[in-house]
Amino acid sequence: MSQLQRNTTAKKSKGQTQGDVLVEKIPLKLKPTEETLARDIQRESARVWNTVMTIHRLFWFKYGVWIDEAMMKEFLKGRFNVHSQDVQAIIETYYECWERTRKLHEEGHPEWRYPWRLKRFFTSTWKVTGITVEDKNLRLSNGWKKPPLKVKLPARLKGMAIKQVQLVWRRNGYWLHVAVVKPALEKVQGDAVAAVDPGEVHALTLTDGQEALVINGRHLRSLRRLRNKTLRKFQKAISRTKKGSNRRRKLLAAKYRFLNWIGAQISHAEHAVTKMAADWCLERGIKKVYLGDPQGVREQDCGRHHNQRMSQWSFGRLRELLEYKLKRHGITLEKIEERGTSGTCPLCGKYTKQTGRVYQCGNMECGFSGMHRDVLGATGILDLAVNGRFTPGRKLPEIVSYAWPAVLAPVQVSKMKAA
Ligand SMILES: [Zn+2]
Repeated sequence: MSQLQRNTTAKKSKGQTQGDVLVEKIPLKLKPTEETLARDIQRESARVWNTVMTIHRLFWFKYGVWIDEAMMKEFLKGRFNVHSQDVQAIIETYYECWERTRKLHEEGHPEWRYPWRLKRFFTSTWKVTGITVEDKNLRLSNGWKKPPLKVKLPARLKGMAIKQVQLVWRRNGYWLHVAVVKPALEKVQGDAVAAVDPGEVHALTLTDGQEALVINGRHLRSLRRLRNKTLRKFQKAISRTKKGSNRRRKLLAAKYRFLNWIGAQISHAEHAVTKMAADWCLERGIKKVYLGDPQGVREQDCGRHHNQRMSQWSFGRLRELLEYKLKRHGITLEKIEERGTSGTCPLCGKYTKQTGRVYQCGNMECGFSGMHRDVLGATGILDLAVNGRFTPGRKLPEIVSYAWPAVLAPVQVSKMKAA
């Protein structure tokens, strides 16, 4: 196992609170000469990484000293054909990674390896002084020996302060990860609480006890299914080709094109769903949202690394996005184990496994019915979070509204399909 993690999230600079730093990922369309330059820059970045690692290890083996970060920076100053900030960023990434591994070893996890692999290419970083915005273009300078890399700046990023740019190789192509400062959003007024129940057919169901909102997730589900189905087709077609053949190369390129296209569609749908939820909470002055966690993972502290991994497993992208959007409004999200929430009768408290969309109590004497199952699930989560248990005869929301998130016009799919 390796602790190397791309340092993609830009660090927030001190004292700046008027906006939220956000990373935008942009696929690049480069001309052959630009592609060569990009490869060259990444190769030089890899040379920095390899040098740092080799020197760091060598000094330890030969002299028993670990060179510190400041000394390394001083030592490598002006020795590479990339922007000086890139050299510094790579040194910082290396030391972060090394330090994290050292801590893990101390905590009794010797299975994590110190950085050891020599790289051929490495993500390049530009910070403020290496970045110039010229009209519609972004100019990334590479020291005085190399020409700058110029790329078109997407319209949506115009006028925003750019904190950091990274050149990343992903899915068979170059991408820019641009860290921009987005204007701060309106902060929530009030201290109400709400619960949200994530699901497949209904992406998110929210309630504050009085009202409920059911956000449709069919579009999102169909996109995810299309993604999986098409990927399987590609995989099958690719497995029938020879390694290094022209046919395989073409199929791989088509596969990545499809992944980029469907990724953008899914991402757009997820943004629409979570924006609706965040707006709903903001309007109702909700300060805290409880999220039903299907994994049944309780909120507990198991150390930073474990927590991080746990949240990556149990939180899908949709949930991460929701948490992020709520946070921008000053709303916190807390996970609640959702076991039993959609099956427990709000009237008698008996548990009945549900099969339909409308709740039906299995207790003959009670027979409660007529409530949307996911709405009931959300009220159950709220009840559990606020009262610590299911309250028999609890109040149910009187107004239930349904929302269909706006959908992007579909792009021609036939071209993307595997032959
Ligand atoms: Zn009942």
